[in-house]
Amino acid sequence: MSDKASNVTWHEQTVSREERERLGGHRGCTIWFTGLSGSGKSTLANALDAHLTLLGYRSYVLYGDNVRHGLNKDLGFSPEDRTENIRRIGEVAALFTHAGIINATAFISPYRADRDASRAMQEEGDFIEVHVHAPLDVCEERDPKGLYKKARAGIIKQFTGIDAPYEAPEAPEIVVHTGEQDVQACLQQIVSYLQGRGIIGK
Ligand code: ADP
Repeated sequence: MSDKASNVTWHEQTVSREERERLGGHRGCTIWFTGLSGSGKSTLANALDAHLTLLGYRSYVLYGDNVRHGLNKDLGFSPEDRTENIRRIGEVAALFTHAGIINATAFISPYRADRDASRAMQEEGDFIEVHVHAPLDVCEERDPKGLYKKARAGIIKQFTGIDAPYEAPEAPEIVVHTGEQDVQACLQQIVSYLQGRGIIGK
């Protein structure tokens, strides 16, 4: 990519990340949900956000559709646009982490290389990849937004799992099986991980 902003220097901030985290009483991190459409990314990100907020933690969710309404409204679903979509999300997520906020992202993010690039934007341990796993037929059966139906009818092209690939993570920090466990059980699995890592208290 061309470097259009060559006269820009990094600004050192007076308030450090550590200071923000000390004030917040917890660490910042990104919880990167990845999985097929309908696997449960938004549902789990929302449940986690509500759970953490109720406990007094500062949390925020970046939802796929919402980001495509604004920040990424110039992007479509070609492989190049999907990569750029995820690159921008990765950068925004890293900013949230530096602000000491527990941020969740709920994007299909089908390409391994794109997710790894987002991971590389953050420090070791700050990027927690959650593979939201459910078999395709379960996702298609749920079809919460009617998208599989449209993809099968050829109305939507390049739909992940139908006529576009999904590259499952090879070494995610967490795998939740939403076809077998309910929302509460999956949520508890993620919360336990955050507690175990000392990101939030027990
Ligand atoms: P995505 O954001 O991955 O496209 P959604 O969260 O919009 O998926 O939809 C997932 C659907 O699956 C919802 O209707 C949700 O109620 C249902 N569901 C069933 N079990 C689970 C689970 N364990 N975790 C998350 N969602 C689940």
